[in-house]
Amino acid sequence: MKLLVTGGAGFIGSAVVRQAVAQGHEVVNLDALTYAACLENVANVAGSPLYSFEQVDIRDAAAVEACIAKHEPTAIMHLAAESHVDRSIDGPGVFIETNVMGTYNMLQSARALWERKGKPADFRFHHISTDEVFGSLPNDPAVQFTEDTPYDPRSPYSASKASSDHLVRAWHETYGLPVVLTNCSNNYGPYHFPEKLIPVIILNALAGAPLPIYGDGSNVRDWLYVEDHADALLCVVQQGEVGRSYNIGGENERSNLELVKTLCAILDTKRPKDTGSYADQITFVTDRPGHDARYAINPNRIRNELGWRPSVTVEEGLEKTVDWYLNNEAWWRPLQQRSGVGVRLGTKA
Ligand code: NAD
Repeated sequence: MKLLVTGGAGFIGSAVVRQAVAQGHEVVNLDALTYAACLENVANVAGSPLYSFEQVDIRDAAAVEACIAKHEPTAIMHLAAESHVDRSIDGPGVFIETNVMGTYNMLQSARALWERKGKPADFRFHHISTDEVFGSLPNDPAVQFTEDTPYDPRSPYSASKASSDHLVRAWHETYGLPVVLTNCSNNYGPYHFPEKLIPVIILNALAGAPLPIYGDGSNVRDWLYVEDHADALLCVVQQGEVGRSYNIGGENERSNLELVKTLCAILDTKRPKDTGSYADQITFVTDRPGHDARYAINPNRIRNELGWRPSVTVEEGLEKTVDWYLNNEAWWRPLQQRSGVGVRLGTKA
């Protein structure tokens, strides 16, 4: 395949780019290089003849059109987005511009290419989305998000992603564009930007700073190792049925408090403190407004129809992640300083 991956300098997009090149696909990485991007994430493929990079902002329709027309990809994997829920609460405007209008620009340019090429049946527009579009679940293990769960987004971020999902389906129904969609649970792993929960906990723990947890820590999330998500995405773009959406999850539900305690226990063995446990640094902070209680993915469709399975348990993945942050300070320290994330404690963890 000749893949055009948007957001390929971000956390998940870079994992897709690394795996796609390793599998022998030609990859064009389209990214605006916002605060969340880091080209070092793809440094190990940057010299490959299969890889090229285009600095393009998906809010710029003409630039998107020119890039897609220049490269003529056979599949587009659209990950570029504003992705941080707390930032969407503080400043929702850019989430609408990038996630909604940017996706519209991607769809229009993809459609123009697809129509100019004679509507090839094997063309794919793969839209990468989140389980947060489905809203919040009760604390009942029998209830999970399926592909048929009605949309009920509750934050500016999830509402912007839900809007983009609807646009992608509409371009399929109205114009016949061959699309596939995926909605995934919370990712974690190497190259996760230092503002997100798991890196904040690891890095604050090592700095001797408070480990901020929203509310009472009872909010439940379903965690998936980022390399497993990238593997699932490459599976769906190649084998997924046109017009269909697939939920991706690891069936690894953990409350935020359980997750943080697990990270502390791993750190206690890897880099013991002089006295006590890193868990002593846990501090509860004012809850996020509209904080969804529970997300849980039912991944039966992608498992049964496409045979995809995650490769690691959450315990294995968290241990790999802790090891990665312990060994890659040269990656995270400048990002922390550049973005002003640093060690922080407040109402927004
Ligand atoms: P990220 O914030 O780490 O990376 C986003 C990338 O998109 C960055 O490289 C950034 O520069 C780029 N980008 C942002 N605005 C852009 C614009 N206007 N034009 C071009 N590029 C732009 O995000 P991530 O965590 O890797 O998430 C990638 C995708 O996966 C998003 O669509 C997100 O909604 C979805 N997703 C994320 C998770 C998760 O847990 N992180 C879970 C499910 C789905």
